[in-house]
Amino acid sequence: MTETLEKVRTYQQFIGGRWVDSAAGETLEVINPANDEPVARVPASDADDVDRAVQAAAKAFETWQKTTPQERMTALLKLADIVETNADELTRLESSQTGKPLNVAAVDMPAIADNLRFFAGAARNLEGKAVNEYIADRTSLIRREPVGVVASIAPWNYPLYMAGWKIGPALAAGNTVVLKPSARTPLTALRFAELAADVLPEGVLNVISGTGDAIGPALVAHPRVGMISLTGDTDTGKKIARIAADGVKRLHLELGGKAPVIVFDDADLDLVAETLRFASYWNSGQDCTAATRVIAGSGVYENFVSKLSEQVRDMKWGDPTPGDELEMGSLISHAQVDRVAGMVDRARPGAEVVVGGQSPDRKGAYYEPTVIAGPDQRSEIVQDEVFGPVVTVQRFSDEDQAIAWANDVRFGLAASVWTRDIGRALRVSKAIQFGTVWVNDHFTLVSEMPHGGFKESGYGKDQSAYAVEDYTVVKHVMIRS
Ligand code: NAD
Repeated sequence: MTETLEKVRTYQQFIGGRWVDSAAGETLEVINPANDEPVARVPASDADDVDRAVQAAAKAFETWQKTTPQERMTALLKLADIVETNADELTRLESSQTGKPLNVAAVDMPAIADNLRFFAGAARNLEGKAVNEYIADRTSLIRREPVGVVASIAPWNYPLYMAGWKIGPALAAGNTVVLKPSARTPLTALRFAELAADVLPEGVLNVISGTGDAIGPALVAHPRVGMISLTGDTDTGKKIARIAADGVKRLHLELGGKAPVIVFDDADLDLVAETLRFASYWNSGQDCTAATRVIAGSGVYENFVSKLSEQVRDMKWGDPTPGDELEMGSLISHAQVDRVAGMVDRARPGAEVVVGGQSPDRKGAYYEPTVIAGPDQRSEIVQDEVFGPVVTVQRFSDEDQAIAWANDVRFGLAASVWTRDIGRALRVSKAIQFGTVWVNDHFTLVSEMPHGGFKESGYGKDQSAYAVEDYTVVKHVMIRS
């Protein structure tokens, strides 16, 4: 799969069961953002590579779609075992391309294995309406069929975890996959493909590396691609949807988020602050469900700002390279640090930066965990996704205002409501427009339950049986007797 060039390893990409360079022979550098050192080189693909990969997936689909659910289950269970067995190596690789501490990257591996095992079971458990004579002398039955070749486009924040969310349901349903990881973080997907090569027939899973600009449009527009599944930025989702419209292709879009955390006066403030120490700053806040904007009742606002600030000042973060147990490492790139710093600086005139608010003067892409109190509801820091370690806290006057502010953003992925009043918890969780609502919790995921957005956070569900449904098409067969 590889050759050694200079100091860093040069990867090839995986197409039709073979390791190949990009058609043009070009490569891209992968950088460790924790220390700005190069980690590897990978192929810089173009439209020719896309075509090779899609043709390989289309050929493999001819036989993979005919496998039994039991056969697909067996393959997915083996993939889960592979992740578990190679968890240490995959964790090190993930950390080296993302700047996550090893203990943070390690958490993804059992979650990926669990997810693949869930989809192994789901492959055998597709549901539909009962076969029946809904009109005399005509028997109707429902088939749930795979879509064909799925182009799976993954982000850099949880590179292998997000790839797993896409591969699991797509393969379970009988599709074949062309996976395009982010150009910043292609290494774990490439290594996973290498480990999976003995389990999956050639062409069932192809992994190509390259930038979104260079290969995204060709992949989305390719006539043999039946469905595009993207986890990424909302603007990327819109670009893809425009291209996909020409071919009337199926889309599965998991996009940005701006999760509100509604804290009522009767909430357990210590529990909220302790939970947000994790749920807001995990992965340096580069998480679409991160608890980013607290909306606190007037009776607890000051107290909560102080409790959250205390938690954040106490966080252990920094250079993950030595492998210490840390709560936060670097961000993904210097460009991301600049984006976060710009948003915090533009927020300063109307709000108070209580903790953090600086990029430390050191090698690597770091930004301090930050708390901002009192920004205006219409300000950029409240309205737009920061995708960094920054939490805002606002003061609301009553329940109606809390609901209105929670809903007053273009995103709708995840939210949490904190109260001891069960009636209020039910009322508010119904009134807010988000795909996941936690009550007295934030961030907890389970493979059995769907994850996906409302509004500009996209459509389609990851995880759960709903994801398998998204990767199938329903066919009605009517038989005249
Ligand atoms: P991104 O949109 O920049 O990139 C995502 C993927 O899309 C990458 O593989 C990229 O190469 C590719 N891409 C970029 N332009 C493309 C184009 N024109 N055509 C086709 N593909 C293209 O996003 P990112 O910066 O990697 O990830 C961060 C974003 O992902 C955030 O907005 C975050 O909220 C979102 N995200 C959402 C979820 C979710 O479940 N909703 C989960 C994780 C991340």
